[in-house]
Amino acid sequence: FTVLALESSADDTCAAVVTSSGNILSNIVLKQNDVHAPFGGIHPYRAVQAHQRNMPIAVQRALKDARISVLDVDGIAFTRGPGMTGCLGIGSSAAKTLAAALNKPLVGVHHMQAHALTPILTSAPNPPKFPFLTLLISGGHTLLLLAISVTQFRILATTPDESIGRVFDKVSRLLALPWSAKGPGASLEDFVAASPVEDNLAPSMPRTMPGVLTFSFTGLHSAVERFVTARGGVEALDIPTRRAVASGFQRAAFNQLEEKLTLALSWCRDRGLGVKHLVVSGGVASNSYLRERLRAFVLDLECSQDSVSLIFPPAELCTDNAVMIAWASMHRFVARDTDDYAIMIRPKWCVQDLMGG
Ligand code: ATP
Ligand code: FE
Repeated sequence: FTVLALESSADDTCAAVVTSSGNILSNIVLKQNDVHAPFGGIHPYRAVQAHQRNMPIAVQRALKDARISVLDVDGIAFTRGPGMTGCLGIGSSAAKTLAAALNKPLVGVHHMQAHALTPILTSAPNPPKFPFLTLLISGGHTLLLLAISVTQFRILATTPDESIGRVFDKVSRLLALPWSAKGPGASLEDFVAASPVEDNLAPSMPRTMPGVLTFSFTGLHSAVERFVTARGGVEALDIPTRRAVASGFQRAAFNQLEEKLTLALSWCRDRGLGVKHLVVSGGVASNSYLRERLRAFVLDLECSQDSVSLIFPPAELCTDNAVMIAWASMHRFVARDTDDYAIMIRPKWCVQDLMGG
């Protein structure tokens, strides 16, 4: 079964062709970074305009790269939600129209379900077994999910305020760190790693909501902001001090991730769930220091009841893409549980409510 999938929930216009055996025939991601850079976030109307321009191009390229005709596609999938209303509308209209014109089955997919099912595709032939934990840390998400089955997910922890990735970006800008093509979060990591850190120069960082399964990184951002302001602005900080602050922030952020993971693992143990895998994905998961920390973290658990193996899916499938949408639609195409062409988008859609509409 060959699926053509479209994704347009935020600022990337994506199209991909994937088969039911897990073959990725094409994966097109058209970024809009240049469009939004001057606004310091996604500009909703500009994003819709860019999707309008890019969607036909993405579809055409996805078919060309896959070396197939649209007539060889067996089903059309698209991101139904959650996401930005105008953006979702572009992918949804394109997918519905294609499906109707071609008389092919249609499936609308939950974006977070798709992120969570990605390791089953990318870790073949040894995929994580349900139930497994998945930590999604990016510019758009800070989410610790328990994946119970293909359609059942439980949110164990998320954040009421800004995502971890956005806070990395803000702290990096606040400290006026050197620009890097990989973005401000990655430049913070590189800056810390570039020279030895004099820890005594940094302010102490708060521990956020100890013992509670909730993430919050704005307190760390505020601590950095207060320190910089009290010293008379970033220009007044020498490089070793900036490095110590960046390092202290990074360490505190990852301490928090570990602390919440420990809580989640004991939550699972108390319920006898037998979780054996921890999947970590999203842009922040490309941080090498975090990877090192997490490897040590799971090594420490090795002989305990909470022992888990760690999976980092490949970076290009951790960020928004249409391969994951195609993959998450597959079980429904195979079961012939497909959607009506009149299906509506769901901009607000909790991943815990996948069943029933
Ligand atoms: P999403 O795909 O969830 O909607 P997004 O579009 O922001 O979010 P990603 O590329 O997954 O996409 O994540 C980008 C975020 O990851 C940015 O906020 C960036 O600061 C952060 N990031 C990237 N590399 C690193 C790194 N090495 N260390 C820390 N943070 C990083
Ligand atoms: Fe996403």
